[in-house]
Amino acid sequence: MSRPFDICVRGAGIVGRAMALQLAAKRLRIALVDVQPESTPGHSDVRAYALSPASRSLLESLRCWPDAAHATPVKGMEVVGDDGGLLHFEATGQGVAALNWMVDVSALESRLAQAVEFQGLIERVDAPRPAPLTVVCEGRVSASRAAWGLVYDQKPYGQHALATRVRTERPHGEIARQWFNREGSSTEVLALLPLDGPVGSACAVVWSVSPQRAQVLREMEASQFDAALHAASHGTLGMLEVTAERQTWPLQFALAQHWMGAMPAADGALGSAWVLAGDAAHTVHPLAGQGLNLGLGDVHALARALDERAYWRPLSDAKVLRAYERERKTAFALVGNTTDALQRLFDHPHPLVAQVRNWGLRGFDRSAGLKHWVVRQAMGFS
Ligand SMILES: Cc1cc2nc3c(=O)[nH]c(=O)nc-3n(C[C@H](O)[C@H](O)[C@H](O)COP(=O)(O)OP(=O)(O)OC[C@H]3O[C@@H](n4cnc5c(N)ncnc54)[C@H](O)[C@@H]3O)c2cc1C
Repeated sequence: MSRPFDICVRGAGIVGRAMALQLAAKRLRIALVDVQPESTPGHSDVRAYALSPASRSLLESLRCWPDAAHATPVKGMEVVGDDGGLLHFEATGQGVAALNWMVDVSALESRLAQAVEFQGLIERVDAPRPAPLTVVCEGRVSASRAAWGLVYDQKPYGQHALATRVRTERPHGEIARQWFNREGSSTEVLALLPLDGPVGSACAVVWSVSPQRAQVLREMEASQFDAALHAASHGTLGMLEVTAERQTWPLQFALAQHWMGAMPAADGALGSAWVLAGDAAHTVHPLAGQGLNLGLGDVHALARALDERAYWRPLSDAKVLRAYERERKTAFALVGNTTDALQRLFDHPHPLVAQVRNWGLRGFDRSAGLKHWVVRQAMGFS
């Protein structure tokens, strides 16, 4: 008879798979609930994520870091405000080799899926299994969180992110570029993120716009789209040519009120517990590229808390899980609230606010100490 499960992980996205692997590395037996929605043939995620050195180190320890062709170092970053304010960061100025890496989502997903197959302590299952601890990694629309009546405070931004890939006329030079552009009464954020190595001329695009404009941009002719993108990026990388499907996501800020608790009687044995991780616990605007970095931070923190608990405390121990919740809510408060404040500051239509934010960008750009601190937070060194 096989050993009973120690932990049930619900959801096999990037956070769920990384969680299962990291917990299995601590010699725990894991049931991983892996029910993927039916995928449309030929349809794969066009996004590339900006992953921090802290996330890289976790994924490397799991042997899931994609090869160099799918992880481009970001050596510099430029942010252009809506009134000419300019902010730039350089890896060398911060004493590091790269600020972060642009990682192909599908390459990362397949590395994690392969690693799960080879880990004997993980069993993929098609429905939740009883275990002392259940970790919910079901993403922003979590059925378990809803079934247990957990409060998930959501503030929609009234924006959708449109993601795609482009070929650029000029090489990106491993610089991630972002523009805040005024469009009517709101601000659009466009990011061109480097792919394909140092002399690469391919970029991942993330363009946060109103839902109506997202639909128009998604449906327009490719040549029209290229021209709109060229205008919004101020021609910095020359002519642009869209090379992939255009996909959209609604954007929101969201935070679950509680991240841990006792399992409802109908769902688990007396004394068992649940915790939330990844987007099931929190979502942020992608303008700072921090959503998954936060989720992988949850993975690291939960595995460490369980591993370091006193030998007589069970996996469902409320004190251990509360410490995890406290630690991760603090990390989220810093990154999530800063991203939210930035989004709201740049979305404010008043001209005085526009002047202040662009003046702030320039001032911030000249403040080496503050810049260094912010970069280290974004890189996951708190
Ligand atoms: C346009 C865009 C760009 C982004 N860029 C970045 C970036 O540069 N850097 C960064 O760090 N983050 C970025 N993010 C955020 C990142 O996408 C998310 O934070 C990350 O995908 C969350 O992973 P997750 O595993 O928690 O959730 P998901 O990716 O949503 O995975 C959840 C999984 O659970 C499964 N599931 C759902 N319900 C159930 C159920 N009831 N039972 C079993 N399984 C279930 C789903 O099928 C899915 O596989 C970006 C987001 C967007 C929208």
